[in-house]
Amino acid sequence: MSVPHWKMVLAKLPKTDSKVRDRLGGEPNQWGEDEPWPLCGHCEEPLHFIVQLRGEGCGGKAKLGKATCLQLFACHNEGDCEFYELGSKGNYAALRSKPLKAQLAKRPGGNKSSVANDPLRFAYGITFKAGADDPEAIEDYDNEARQQKAHKNGFIDKLYGVPVAGNEPEEDLECTKCKEPMSFLGQLLSADDWFIYYLHACNKGHQVSFHAQRA
Ligand SMILES: [Zn+2]
Ligand SMILES: [Zn+2]
Repeated sequence: MSVPHWKMVLAKLPKTDSKVRDRLGGEPNQWGEDEPWPLCGHCEEPLHFIVQLRGEGCGGKAKLGKATCLQLFACHNEGDCEFYELGSKGNYAALRSKPLKAQLAKRPGGNKSSVANDPLRFAYGITFKAGADDPEAIEDYDNEARQQKAHKNGFIDKLYGVPVAGNEPEEDLECTKCKEPMSFLGQLLSADDWFIYYLHACNKGHQVSFHAQRA
């Protein structure tokens, strides 16, 4: 039995591109809320923008309830701010309720990061290609060749489908507001291949949870 997913297809964007779209790296679209750029709860430096996913009602593929989009930020500053931990103050998954603006929000101090050649300094546009996961191939942890082939086919960078686990099994997450279980929203392989970034969302669109694991 296969499980449908949306594979993320990345294309580099010119720096001047400010269209409201699904984005990875570079800068996010300016949000409509009167809210400043998010800061890291540990080092207090501005967080780095990771990914922007539009909700289904706004031309995107993510099921985010009434939210217009999800904007994920994480601390890629020097120092160990444990951005990868569930509920860490070193990451922030913002669900926006107002429409995004066709202009880019600038990170205070620029979007440089301490990670050498961090591809997040470059802006990518995301488009989605319909596909499906074979749960048996994904869970075939003993067959490295099969896993690598699946990796090549891009099943990590996707929305929905079957999550690929890092070095620990996924735990069940629940929304802190409605106490219902959260659903797997998507995952991304970090640019340096070190981390798998996971997103889970409340089915009612209350919140999105982020964590990362060693790939
Ligand atoms: Zn930090
Ligand atoms: Zn909820």
